[in-house]
Parts: sequence; structure tokens; C-alpha cells
Amino acid sequence: MIQLVFATNNKNKVAEIQHIISDGFLVQSLQDIGCTEDIEETEPTIEGNALLKARYVNSRYGVNVFADDTGLEVEALDYRPGVYSARYAGHGATYAANVSKLLSEMHGLENRRARFKTVFALIIDNKEFLFEGIVNGVITHETRGSNGFGYDPVFLPDGYDTTFAQMTLDVKNTISHRALAFFKMVDYLQQNYW
Ligand code: IMP
Repeated sequence: MIQLVFATNNKNKVAEIQHIISDGFLVQSLQDIGCTEDIEETEPTIEGNALLKARYVNSRYGVNVFADDTGLEVEALDYRPGVYSARYAGHGATYAANVSKLLSEMHGLENRRARFKTVFALIIDNKEFLFEGIVNGVITHETRGSNGFGYDPVFLPDGYDTTFAQMTLDVKNTISHRALAFFKMVDYLQQNYW
């Protein structure tokens, strides 16, 4: 059994990962190891923030750990909000406020192409690894669906006619950016640590 801490306080993400976890893999939350600090994401890139969180937990708690960071990159907005996706409409912005800012900034824009990018930073036996997952799609003109979180109601992945928020977690979890990055990490762990 490999024990890994998932360095996030986001319950939605823990639930998603727990849903797709494989046998032989025990994921603990920050709460489980008594880490209650808010780890500030100060890096200018998705990779940098994922590594920053993993390094923080690894150095203070001495555990094997993985951390993720995700951004929504919109072509017509020069790939914004990107690393600033969580605070697009300001610090502490709600998901709804971020979505509504996105829709108004994109009002009238024909190019709706966007992608979700997740990077998982893994630190195990004091070695660092990065795993990337990308899903391409388009931003809808209005919100659709109420499942999921964040920008799910306005993200229509290529090859589907429903937004992420209209999918069940089971379906989202087979195709999402976070799932893809996570599967790469699990593959690596299976090949090297099982
Ligand atoms: P984080 O860095 O992984 O917390 O993600 C930053 C922001 O991206 C979140 O606050 C959400 O707004 C958005 N986000 C991350 N993952 C998803 C997702 O699976 N669906 C929709 N939005 C997401």
C-alpha cells in the first residue's frame, strides 16, 4: 500500500480523486496529517504552484505527497485566466463570479477555444516529478448544468455535447484534465513502486 498525502484543501478535488483511486493506494488529506495552514500560491505558472505546494508539505511534514494546480486557458483571452483561474474575479471570488466575468469578457467573441490544464507535482522518496493533463474544448455562451464546480457549467469538452457540469462525476472523471494527469501519475507509481 502506497501512502500519499494530497496537498489540497479543496473537498471537491479530494472527492474526485477518491472516486478514481486504484487499489494499493491510500490517499490522505492535509487534515489527516494535521496541516491546517493555507499554502499561498505565489508562483506565476501552474507547474510552479503545484511544486510549491508539494514542496511545502514534503519539507514540513516529511511525507510523500502530491499537489495539483489547474488553470483554464482561453485562446481569445491570450490564455487567461490560466494560473489565476481561482482569483479571476478577485481574491476569494466565488465560482459564479468567475464564470460570470468569463462570459462577459467573452461576450461577442467568436473564438471560444479553451483548455483545462492540470499539473500534478509528486514528491516521493525525495524525488520530484510532474504529470500534465489537458482537455481541449470551447466556452459556451451561457451556463449549462449544475454538477461539478468552478468553470464546469461553461466548459464543453471536444467530442461531447454536454458541459462538464451536465456530466456525472463518473463520466467527468474518465476524461477530465485532472483525471488524465492523475492517471499518468498512477501509471508511474504502478511501474516504479508497486
Ligand atoms: P486549482 O488551482 O486546481 O484549485 O484550480 C484553480 C481554479 O480552476 C479553481 O478555483 C476552479 O475555478 C478552476 N478549476 C479547477 N479544476 C476545475 C474543474 O475540474 N472544473 C472547473 N473548474 C476547475
